[in-house]
Amino acid sequence: MANDNKLQNIIAHCKEYGFVFQSSEIYDGLSAVYDYGQLGAELKKNIRDYWWRSMTQMQENIVGIDAAIFMHPTVWKASGHVDNFSDPMIDNKDSQKRYRVDHLIEGFAETLDTDKGEALLQQMDALLATNDFDGLKQLIENNRISCAVSNTCNWTEVRQFNLMFATEMGSLSEETNVVYLRPETAQGIFVNFLNVQKSGRMKIPFGIAQTGKAFRNEIVARGFIFRMREFEQMEMQFFVKPGTQKEWYEYWKETRMKWHLSLGISPDRYRFHDHVKLAHYADMACDIEYDFPMGFKEVEGIHSRTDFDLKNHQQFSGKKLTYFDTDINQHYIPYVVETSIGLDRTILMVLSEAYKEEDLSTEDKKDSRVVLGFPAMLAPIKLAVLPLTKKDGLPEIARELIDQCKPAFKCFYEEKDSIGKRYRRQDAIGTPFCITIDHQTKEDQTVTIRYRDSMLQERISLSSVKQLVLDKIQMFS
Ligand code: ATP
Repeated sequence: MANDNKLQNIIAHCKEYGFVFQSSEIYDGLSAVYDYGQLGAELKKNIRDYWWRSMTQMQENIVGIDAAIFMHPTVWKASGHVDNFSDPMIDNKDSQKRYRVDHLIEGFAETLDTDKGEALLQQMDALLATNDFDGLKQLIENNRISCAVSNTCNWTEVRQFNLMFATEMGSLSEETNVVYLRPETAQGIFVNFLNVQKSGRMKIPFGIAQTGKAFRNEIVARGFIFRMREFEQMEMQFFVKPGTQKEWYEYWKETRMKWHLSLGISPDRYRFHDHVKLAHYADMACDIEYDFPMGFKEVEGIHSRTDFDLKNHQQFSGKKLTYFDTDINQHYIPYVVETSIGLDRTILMVLSEAYKEEDLSTEDKKDSRVVLGFPAMLAPIKLAVLPLTKKDGLPEIARELIDQCKPAFKCFYEEKDSIGKRYRRQDAIGTPFCITIDHQTKEDQTVTIRYRDSMLQERISLSSVKQLVLDKIQMFS
């Protein structure tokens, strides 16, 4: 399967089975905004829970919070987002199409030989690092990079475009009422740093985690749920003693990569990418990139943010944000190492990894299946219970099993169609275990368990089903 097709097939599969829908689809959709359907919402919740529990429950010195989306407008002045949260853009005068400059050049570099492409990207990185907009335009013109719509090189100047959405709070539309939809969840953590530290009696080093919606007016939004205008982040800010940031940065790089590998994804599907152009707040930064159907792209960022945020909030708010370190009897503003992962991108990663079209043909019969091989702990439905027939008391036994299991995990009951078809439908939504109740069940209290990945079937006792599933879906052992 060609990779271009793979993304299209995943998108179609997500729609067909209720994972992801285009937002406001009956009105022709809203660009780069998506809704999660009945199975997508379960998958999303399971991934969020896995991250949350890995970062809080499994880490004694990290606590989680849930801050509001709206924040005081000065927060975004202090954080640098009002002045700096922008991407260099360029418009094609003929098609009116707007491009992010780095995307335009990267797209062109992909069409070149590897060496030439690399050289071009290096030139671009150097120009981006010095905000040399004239140089970037020159680079685009010198390479005769054209617009995909008009095919011309008739470009405007390169300009900065702020990515924050603004709205008004209260009834008067005065400038003072302007509030922003947060473009990252991190600032909700910074402004609560002392609240949490004091109320939780936290000692440095410690972390604050949170998950929640963020909004960015992305100019070029593409790649399905890879780049959205409304998305969810899972972030953790780790507060450390100044001077120790390098070792914590390395620690979190390694720890977060281990988390990714714990999803059962092979190491060769990941790579680190060190930032050349550092964000305004960072002294070290890298991305964890995953090999999406569109190639290696960022799924998570790890940033050493120095004391930039807390120092600025202290200055803009006039409130002291220092920590008293009893080990050394000193006040200081902590440094911060951040791990920031997009929940939606993680969903796309998990879907890309799980989605398989398998040819099961034998000599005498053509056969195939689409299967979502999710890790069992993340599967939207853990157990399907399927009575072989609709009569003879089999549905009652199936219902009893579901009643026993549903307080512990999500189950699904189905009695329509042949067992083979029902198995295939469960494969397509990634259910790891199917139980078939048949006439023998009535005699000896055994059932058939069918495993999604191997398609193997075996007989086990009815009473062992719940514990078997529980053992396989546990997140931590
Ligand atoms: P990119 O370079 O792809 O725009 P970024 O470096 O701006 O991403 P960060 O600000 O580091 O991203 O945000 C942390 C994480 O949030 C990213 O690694 C990504 O998983 C997620 N994320 C950022 N922007 C979006 C978006 N528009 N849609 C979905 N997820 C996003």
